[in-house]
Amino acid sequence: MVVCTNAYRHAKACCADRAQRGNLNMTASPETLRDIVIANHILAHEEVVDAYGHISFRHPDDPEKYLLSRARAPELIEADDIVTYRLDGDAIDAGDRRPYSERMIHGAIYEQRPDVNVVIHNHSYEVIPFASTGTPLRPVTHTCAPIGKDIPVWDMRDKFGETNHLVVTMEQGRNLAAALGGGNIALMKRHGCVVTGTTVAETVMKAIYLQVNAKLQLQTMMIGEPDYLTDTEIEECTAMQQAPISLDRAWEVWCRRAAKNS
Ligand SMILES: [Zn+2]
Repeated sequence: MVVCTNAYRHAKACCADRAQRGNLNMTASPETLRDIVIANHILAHEEVVDAYGHISFRHPDDPEKYLLSRARAPELIEADDIVTYRLDGDAIDAGDRRPYSERMIHGAIYEQRPDVNVVIHNHSYEVIPFASTGTPLRPVTHTCAPIGKDIPVWDMRDKFGETNHLVVTMEQGRNLAAALGGGNIALMKRHGCVVTGTTVAETVMKAIYLQVNAKLQLQTMMIGEPDYLTDTEIEECTAMQQAPISLDRAWEVWCRRAAKNS
């Protein structure tokens, strides 16, 4: 489905060249690596992530593995930064590339949720107030419907006491995955959130509009009581937002904007 700008078509060609030269992760196709790079750049450009945060893909050829960059700011990530991990967080082909300490978030969610192919973890500052207070985050406008109606808040302190709040063990990751349950988003108290989905574009859309909704909901609460979408409206608007006519249009412009800064 992915629609690319010329800049990213060029990136695809570069990935193929490097793969042929043997200095690139050979377990994933150039198209997959390109999509991971693009998704990182989009999330950075849309300010969902800054120096921190990451997006992973379940390996297209092996559901027991996932693809995630080495520890690096998302807007700087290139195809040769992508490393293959087992679900327990062990790197298969890292070499001297240092992994993210919070990669356990990804493996634990893939382990629990066979339906999930993409995981985003971020520290969106607009979302934090809702994670901090437990005030329910709920769609206030139709474009934000894909965030869904029930977004749980996970508090690491409940099970693990006082920590540095980084999810660095599988036990911590599995506890977070349990809080996520069958949903697609969970807020992380004093930390950020996780956003999951089946395709890259759909998951990136949810992460972007989670942040948009948090901003709009907070603004709305400053002047009155939000009149949220109903459950039925959330379902109908989500179907519309995630249909190709809407998702492709959004993906194209996100690619264009991110490519301008790449
Ligand atoms: Zn984090």
